[in-house]
Amino acid sequence: MARGKKIYEGKAKILFEGPEPGTIVQYFKDDATAFNAEKKDVIDGKGVLNNRLSEYFMTGLNQIGVPTHFLKRMNMREQLVRACEIIPLEVIVRNFAAGSMSTRLGIEEGTQLPRPIVEYCFKDDSLGDPLVTEEHIAAFGWASQQDMDDILGLALRVNDFMSGVMYGVGIRLVDFKIEIGRVYDGDFQRLVVADEISPDSCRLWDMETGRKLDKDVFRRDLGNLTDAYAEVARRLGVMPKGTGPQKPTLVN
Ligand code: UDP
Repeated sequence: MARGKKIYEGKAKILFEGPEPGTIVQYFKDDATAFNAEKKDVIDGKGVLNNRLSEYFMTGLNQIGVPTHFLKRMNMREQLVRACEIIPLEVIVRNFAAGSMSTRLGIEEGTQLPRPIVEYCFKDDSLGDPLVTEEHIAAFGWASQQDMDDILGLALRVNDFMSGVMYGVGIRLVDFKIEIGRVYDGDFQRLVVADEISPDSCRLWDMETGRKLDKDVFRRDLGNLTDAYAEVARRLGVMPKGTGPQKPTLVN
């Protein structure tokens, strides 16, 4: 099939026009970046794994009634999604302290939080995605109060789903980031989970050993990133047992 026009190229994905109006093809690259793209590498097989893992999580969310932009996986590296207007926020949910929260508040990494904490960052690479409050979001018109109520509801439902799925395979969901899109159905607009959900955007720790199975392996030079992501895929049954981590083989 002829590829549609390139719409946008980001750090880890390229977006192309989809085959039908209102659809987009998301192509998952092997590029990894961290620290606002100061650290970069190409990680063989990462895009294939993230395409498959994001499909797995988004499909599960759709099935339990949490709306997402995901329509179907097309091939190893591409998935078809609904076109939406991305709200310029990174919505972060934390169950355990880690990363920037630990640094900012001086809480030891791994400390369980009394309840899930939702944070918002303004999506702007040139500013380093700064943390913002609901006051900023309302004052600058990035989202309405109704949107914020819906976003909080979506974020907490994604958290419960992802925490449960991960718990089932012995993995602790420490934190994650999602992005939210607006889709229009005639005169109505509604919010859906957009972008991707993958080990690039979550912190995942093995419950027994504490081994990191997420992008911190790349950020902190802890070993082979593809091995870590393949381990998540293998536990979820997305890759058959015995598949070598260097050669992700997909289960249909
Ligand atoms: N995150 C992300 N993209 C970003 C920033 C954060 O996917 O641009 C994810 C990150 O992988 C982690 C969570 O959001 O799972 C919280 O990240 P944190 O604020 O601790 O930032 P970091 O320490 O990664 O800079």
